[in-house]
Amino acid sequence: MCHVLNQAVASVPKTDRRRLLSMAGLGAAGIAAAGVAGAAPAAASPGRRGRLEQGRGKVPGGAGRRTRVVMLGTAGGPALVDPDRHGVSTAIVYEDKVYVVDLGVGSFNRLEQSGLAPDTGLGSSLSWVRGIFFTHLHSDHTVDWPAVYATGSMNIVERAGDPIQVFGPGSRDTLTRVYPPTRPAPALVNPEDPTPGISSMTRHLRNAFAQDFNDRLRDSNFPDPDSLFQVHDIDHSGLWTVDPQGIPPRLDAPIRVWEDGDVKVTATLVDHRPTAPAYGFRFDTPDGSVVVSGDTCVSQNLIDLARGADVLVHEVIDPAFVDQLTASLPPGTAESVREHLLISHTTIEQVGRDVAEPAGVGTLALTHMVPGTAPTSTWRKAQRGFSGELVIGEDLLEIGVGRARWRA
Ligand SMILES: [Zn+2]
Ligand SMILES: [Zn+2]
Repeated sequence: MCHVLNQAVASVPKTDRRRLLSMAGLGAAGIAAAGVAGAAPAAASPGRRGRLEQGRGKVPGGAGRRTRVVMLGTAGGPALVDPDRHGVSTAIVYEDKVYVVDLGVGSFNRLEQSGLAPDTGLGSSLSWVRGIFFTHLHSDHTVDWPAVYATGSMNIVERAGDPIQVFGPGSRDTLTRVYPPTRPAPALVNPEDPTPGISSMTRHLRNAFAQDFNDRLRDSNFPDPDSLFQVHDIDHSGLWTVDPQGIPPRLDAPIRVWEDGDVKVTATLVDHRPTAPAYGFRFDTPDGSVVVSGDTCVSQNLIDLARGADVLVHEVIDPAFVDQLTASLPPGTAESVREHLLISHTTIEQVGRDVAEPAGVGTLALTHMVPGTAPTSTWRKAQRGFSGELVIGEDLLEIGVGRARWRA
């Protein structure tokens, strides 16, 4: 046992030492076995440390609901502008099973704060996570994945069952177009593999963290991260050969991603041109359905996927912010930023009227707010043209789905 772990064991109450030793693979056949043999998961404690446990208006809060949405992070874009909004991430929870969509900056901390874990006093923030889903590979959606991957085996106290299933885009296999077209092509980053998908990205992470992983494998009997995470590229090969423009085709049926007992996960191609492939995900449980848009402009595929959903968690951008931002950028950069932001995202005016209303969803919850600092009054305009309930997303806000209640 390494001395750090010795100190850690000495510092925790006796009753918790068994768990810590199990976590280190000592006196047990490894973490997974320790989890199976350990105590049943503690009672669910939704919103244990959450700032906001209730929904808004007629929208039910999540406390005690068998199915619920927890908005872990609600800021869009890689710029850090508001300490109250962390990078975008959404948890869909069914009983004590947690499914996380995207991992923006700070979202791993938000997961810990959400209380979606057994209350052990030790590292357990991934103990109930069953799946992680990446909508696309922009850094504002993935940058906490290295943190989760590298430290995962230290955050699974009382975890039972299978490895965490991770799904995301595969390689796009072609470069995006240069904009504007007259601009010379910039030098490539990593020309041997310039468009890695989620599984290739994870292989690169594994190699980058090799020293730490090997230290812990040899010194502390920690498990190999590949025994905790199974990473899958979502196969788009029969649907679309991605081109440099990245405008997806219309799909006539959703993509089947995963069925985990009562929870069925499907996806569609959304339009985040030229970034591709980009996905929206739908989660169906016995209590209802939740759809997460990822980053997209108004997308008919997404409207189809969201048809009749109880909750649509959708990205949104304030066009006034785009004008303000691009006014301060140098010529050349300004136009490409403006085009990216307005062509590949959904404005406040569009999200309710042109997406949530035609999809017929019950509740529209706004996330990926750009800018995260805009006042609530700005986002309220999304209600225009939408007859359902509008929730202006905040970090750690919970939304209940269906009437079923649940206790462990
Ligand atoms: Zn984004
Ligand atoms: Zn994006």
